[in-house]
Amino acid sequence: MPRKLAAGNWKMNGGSAELSEIAALALAHPAPGCDVLICPPATLISRMAEAARGSAIAVGGQDCHGAVSGAHTGDVSAPMLLDAGASHVILGHSERRQDHGETDATVRIKTTTAVTEGLIAVVCIGETLGEREAGQTLDVIGTQMDGSLPDSTTAATIVVAYEPVWAIGTGLTPTLDQIAEVHDFMRARLAARFGADMADGIRLLYGGSVKPSNAAEIFAVPNVDGALVGGASLKADDFGQIIAAL
Ligand code: PEP
Repeated sequence: MPRKLAAGNWKMNGGSAELSEIAALALAHPAPGCDVLICPPATLISRMAEAARGSAIAVGGQDCHGAVSGAHTGDVSAPMLLDAGASHVILGHSERRQDHGETDATVRIKTTTAVTEGLIAVVCIGETLGEREAGQTLDVIGTQMDGSLPDSTTAATIVVAYEPVWAIGTGLTPTLDQIAEVHDFMRARLAARFGADMADGIRLLYGGSVKPSNAAEIFAVPNVDGALVGGASLKADDFGQIIAAL
Protein backbone atom coordinates (compact mmCIF):
# COMPACT_ATOMS: atom_id res chain seq x y z
CA MET A 1 0.00 0.00 0.00
CA PRO A 2 1.50 3.37 -0.95
CA ARG A 3 1.82 6.09 1.67
CA LYS A 4 -1.21 8.32 1.43
CA LEU A 5 -1.06 11.85 0.05
CA ALA A 6 -3.01 14.97 0.94
CA ALA A 7 -2.54 17.47 -1.88
CA GLY A 8 -3.86 21.01 -1.85
CA ASN A 9 -4.62 22.96 -5.01
CA TRP A 10 -4.90 26.67 -4.32
CA LYS A 11 -5.85 27.40 -7.93
CA MET A 12 -5.76 31.16 -8.72
CA ASN A 13 -6.02 32.08 -5.05
CA GLY A 14 -3.56 33.29 -2.48
CA GLY A 15 -0.95 35.98 -2.04
CA SER A 16 1.66 36.95 0.53
CA ALA A 17 -0.94 36.96 3.30
CA GLU A 18 -1.79 33.30 2.77
CA LEU A 19 1.81 32.13 3.25
CA SER A 20 1.17 32.17 6.99
CA GLU A 21 -1.28 29.29 6.42
CA ILE A 22 1.69 27.12 5.48
CA ALA A 23 3.62 27.99 8.57
CA ALA A 24 0.53 27.17 10.65
CA LEU A 25 0.13 23.85 8.88
CA ALA A 26 3.78 22.93 9.32
CA LEU A 27 3.64 23.79 13.01
CA ALA A 28 0.42 21.88 13.63
CA HIS A 29 1.58 18.78 11.71
CA PRO A 30 5.33 18.39 12.22
CA ALA A 31 5.22 14.66 11.40
CA PRO A 32 1.99 13.95 9.51
CA GLY A 33 0.90 10.37 8.96
CA CYS A 34 0.66 11.03 5.24
CA ASP A 35 2.58 12.95 2.60
CA VAL A 36 1.46 16.58 2.30
CA LEU A 37 1.68 18.69 -0.83
CA ILE A 38 0.55 22.26 -1.47
CA CYS A 39 0.29 23.65 -4.98
CA PRO A 40 0.03 27.46 -4.77
CA PRO A 41 -0.10 29.81 -7.74
CA ALA A 42 3.23 30.08 -9.57
CA THR A 43 3.91 33.49 -8.01
CA LEU A 44 4.12 31.92 -4.54
CA ILE A 45 6.07 28.75 -5.22
CA SER A 46 9.53 29.95 -4.29
CA ARG A 47 8.38 31.75 -1.15
CA MET A 48 6.25 28.81 -0.11
CA ALA A 49 9.12 26.41 -0.69
CA GLU A 50 11.21 28.64 1.55
CA ALA A 51 8.48 28.72 4.21
CA ALA A 52 8.07 24.94 4.06
CA ARG A 53 11.81 24.18 4.14
CA GLY A 54 12.60 21.68 6.88
CA SER A 55 8.93 20.73 7.28
CA ALA A 56 7.07 17.70 5.92
CA ILE A 57 5.26 19.84 3.35
CA ALA A 58 6.16 19.53 -0.33
CA VAL A 59 5.37 22.28 -2.81
CA GLY A 60 4.11 21.89 -6.36
CA GLY A 61 3.02 23.81 -9.43
CA GLN A 62 -0.43 23.71 -10.98
CA ASP A 63 0.70 23.32 -14.58
CA CYS A 64 3.80 23.38 -16.75
CA HIS A 65 4.55 23.64 -20.45
CA GLY A 66 5.40 20.62 -22.56
CA ALA A 67 8.67 22.26 -23.61
CA VAL A 68 11.51 23.00 -21.23
CA SER A 69 12.12 26.56 -22.49
CA GLY A 70 11.43 28.82 -25.42
CA ALA A 71 9.06 31.38 -26.89
CA HIS A 72 5.94 30.63 -24.85
CA THR A 73 4.88 33.91 -23.28
CA GLY A 74 3.21 33.54 -19.93
CA ASP A 75 4.01 29.87 -19.50
CA VAL A 76 6.09 28.13 -16.85
CA SER A 77 8.36 25.18 -17.56
CA ALA A 78 9.15 22.11 -15.49
CA PRO A 79 12.77 23.20 -14.89
CA MET A 80 11.47 26.58 -13.68
CA LEU A 81 9.19 24.86 -11.17
CA LEU A 82 12.11 22.78 -9.91
CA ASP A 83 14.29 25.86 -9.73
CA ALA A 84 11.62 27.59 -7.63
CA GLY A 85 11.60 24.71 -5.16
CA ALA A 86 8.70 22.59 -6.42
CA SER A 87 8.86 18.81 -6.41
CA HIS A 88 5.43 18.10 -7.93
CA VAL A 89 3.12 19.51 -10.59
CA ILE A 90 -0.61 19.10 -11.16
CA LEU A 91 -1.34 18.37 -14.82
CA GLY A 92 -4.58 18.00 -16.77
CA HIS A 93 -6.83 19.57 -14.14
CA SER A 94 -10.33 19.88 -15.59
CA GLU A 95 -10.10 23.67 -15.31
CA ARG A 96 -7.03 23.58 -17.58
CA ARG A 97 -8.79 21.18 -19.92
CA GLN A 98 -11.83 23.52 -20.03
CA ASP A 99 -10.16 26.94 -19.92
CA HIS A 100 -7.16 26.16 -22.11
CA GLY A 101 -8.43 23.37 -24.35
CA GLU A 102 -5.94 20.84 -23.00
CA THR A 103 -6.48 17.39 -24.47
CA ASP A 104 -5.25 14.03 -23.24
CA ALA A 105 -2.42 14.33 -25.78
CA THR A 106 -1.40 17.72 -24.35
CA VAL A 107 -1.46 16.33 -20.84
CA ARG A 108 0.64 13.33 -21.86
CA ILE A 109 3.30 15.56 -23.41
CA LYS A 110 3.40 17.80 -20.34
CA THR A 111 3.53 14.78 -18.04
CA THR A 112 6.38 13.23 -19.98
CA THR A 113 8.36 16.46 -19.83
CA ALA A 114 7.64 17.05 -16.15
CA VAL A 115 8.73 13.57 -15.16
CA THR A 116 11.79 13.60 -17.40
CA GLU A 117 12.86 16.85 -15.74
CA GLY A 118 12.44 15.36 -12.27
CA LEU A 119 9.00 16.39 -11.07
CA ILE A 120 6.29 14.09 -9.73
CA ALA A 121 3.15 14.62 -11.83
CA VAL A 122 -0.34 14.57 -10.35
CA VAL A 123 -2.41 13.76 -13.44
CA CYS A 124 -6.11 14.65 -13.20
CA ILE A 125 -8.99 12.90 -14.92
CA GLY A 126 -12.74 12.98 -14.42
CA GLU A 127 -16.12 12.88 -16.09
CA THR A 128 -18.61 15.70 -16.57
CA LEU A 129 -22.12 15.46 -15.16
CA GLY A 130 -23.49 14.83 -18.65
CA GLU A 131 -21.07 11.95 -19.16
CA ARG A 132 -22.02 10.42 -15.80
CA GLU A 133 -25.74 10.75 -16.51
CA ALA A 134 -25.20 9.13 -19.89
CA GLY A 135 -23.53 6.13 -18.22
CA GLN A 136 -20.17 6.93 -19.82
CA THR A 137 -18.09 7.47 -16.68
CA LEU A 138 -15.82 4.43 -16.92
CA ASP A 139 -15.36 4.83 -20.66
CA VAL A 140 -14.32 8.45 -20.17
CA ILE A 141 -11.97 7.61 -17.30
CA GLY A 142 -10.37 4.78 -19.26
CA THR A 143 -9.85 6.95 -22.33
CA GLN A 144 -8.38 9.80 -20.28
CA MET A 145 -6.01 7.44 -18.46
CA ASP A 146 -4.85 5.79 -21.66
CA GLY A 147 -4.31 9.14 -23.36
CA SER A 148 -2.88 11.21 -20.53
CA LEU A 149 -0.43 8.79 -18.91
CA PRO A 150 2.89 8.17 -20.64
CA ASP A 151 4.25 4.66 -21.22
CA SER A 152 7.05 5.58 -18.84
CA THR A 153 4.61 5.87 -15.90
CA THR A 154 5.97 4.59 -12.59
CA ALA A 155 4.67 4.65 -9.04
CA ALA A 156 7.50 6.98 -8.05
CA THR A 157 6.78 9.59 -10.69
CA ILE A 158 3.01 9.63 -11.28
CA VAL A 159 -0.02 10.16 -9.06
CA VAL A 160 -3.48 9.91 -10.63
CA ALA A 161 -6.31 12.08 -9.31
CA TYR A 162 -9.93 11.18 -10.02
CA GLU A 163 -11.87 14.43 -9.97
CA PRO A 164 -15.43 14.32 -11.26
CA VAL A 165 -15.86 17.71 -12.94
CA TRP A 166 -19.32 18.13 -11.41
CA ALA A 167 -17.94 17.66 -7.89
CA ILE A 168 -15.23 20.33 -8.10
CA GLY A 169 -16.12 23.39 -6.06
CA THR A 170 -19.82 22.48 -5.97
CA GLY A 171 -20.19 20.82 -2.59
CA LEU A 172 -21.43 17.73 -4.42
CA THR A 173 -19.61 14.41 -4.11
CA PRO A 174 -20.21 11.00 -5.66
CA THR A 175 -21.52 8.31 -3.36
CA LEU A 176 -18.86 6.18 -1.70
CA ASP A 177 -19.90 3.31 -3.98
CA GLN A 178 -19.40 5.50 -7.04
CA ILE A 179 -15.94 6.52 -5.83
CA ALA A 180 -15.09 2.87 -5.16
CA GLU A 181 -16.29 1.81 -8.60
CA VAL A 182 -14.07 4.37 -10.36
CA HIS A 183 -11.01 3.78 -8.17
CA ASP A 184 -11.26 -0.01 -8.60
CA PHE A 185 -11.55 0.53 -12.32
CA MET A 186 -8.51 2.83 -12.36
CA ARG A 187 -6.41 0.32 -10.44
CA ALA A 188 -7.37 -2.44 -12.86
CA ARG A 189 -6.69 -0.24 -15.88
CA LEU A 190 -3.22 0.59 -14.54
CA ALA A 191 -2.55 -3.09 -13.83
CA ALA A 192 -3.50 -4.06 -17.37
CA ARG A 193 -1.06 -1.52 -18.81
CA PHE A 194 1.79 -1.35 -16.31
CA GLY A 195 1.53 -4.63 -14.40
CA ALA A 196 -0.09 -5.34 -11.05
CA ASP A 197 2.98 -4.57 -8.94
CA MET A 198 3.44 -1.13 -10.46
CA ALA A 199 -0.29 -0.41 -10.40
CA ASP A 200 -0.54 -1.23 -6.70
CA GLY A 201 2.09 1.40 -5.92
CA ILE A 202 0.55 4.24 -7.92
CA ARG A 203 -1.36 6.60 -5.68
CA LEU A 204 -4.96 7.23 -6.67
CA LEU A 205 -6.36 10.44 -5.20
CA TYR A 206 -9.99 11.43 -5.01
CA GLY A 207 -10.76 15.12 -5.57
CA GLY A 208 -13.97 17.12 -5.58
CA SER A 209 -15.50 18.90 -2.56
CA VAL A 210 -13.38 17.04 0.00
CA LYS A 211 -13.79 18.76 3.38
CA PRO A 212 -13.18 17.91 7.02
CA SER A 213 -16.68 16.49 7.39
CA ASN A 214 -16.42 13.93 4.57
CA ALA A 215 -12.68 13.20 4.42
CA ALA A 216 -12.60 10.18 6.74
CA GLU A 217 -15.36 8.28 4.96
CA ILE A 218 -13.85 8.97 1.54
CA PHE A 219 -10.38 7.89 2.69
CA ALA A 220 -11.84 4.62 3.97
CA VAL A 221 -12.91 3.66 0.43
CA PRO A 222 -10.65 0.92 -0.97
CA ASN A 223 -8.13 2.15 -3.54
CA VAL A 224 -8.38 5.75 -2.36
CA ASP A 225 -4.80 6.74 -1.49
CA GLY A 226 -5.45 10.34 -0.59
CA ALA A 227 -7.10 13.49 -1.83
CA LEU A 228 -6.62 16.45 -4.10
CA VAL A 229 -8.28 19.30 -2.24
CA GLY A 230 -9.19 22.69 -3.65
CA GLY A 231 -11.15 25.14 -1.50
CA ALA A 232 -10.53 23.40 1.82
CA SER A 233 -6.75 23.53 1.31
CA LEU A 234 -6.71 27.31 1.60
CA LYS A 235 -7.30 27.22 5.35
CA ALA A 236 -4.72 25.53 7.57
CA ASP A 237 -7.43 24.41 10.02
CA ASP A 238 -9.56 22.69 7.38
CA PHE A 239 -6.63 21.16 5.51
CA GLY A 240 -5.13 20.07 8.82
CA GLN A 241 -8.29 18.15 9.67
CA ILE A 242 -8.17 16.45 6.27
CA ILE A 243 -4.51 15.52 6.84
CA ALA A 244 -5.44 14.11 10.22
CA ALA A 245 -8.20 11.99 8.65
CA LEU A 246 -5.75 10.20 6.34
C1 PEP B 1 -9.76 20.82 -7.26
O1 PEP B 1 -9.85 21.89 -7.83
O2 PEP B 1 -8.84 20.05 -7.54
C2 PEP B 1 -10.76 20.49 -6.25
C3 PEP B 1 -10.88 19.26 -5.87
O3 PEP B 1 -11.53 21.53 -5.77
P1 PEP B 1 -12.56 21.48 -4.52
O4 PEP B 1 -11.94 20.67 -3.44
O5 PEP B 1 -12.75 22.91 -4.14
O6 PEP B 1 -13.81 20.84 -5.04
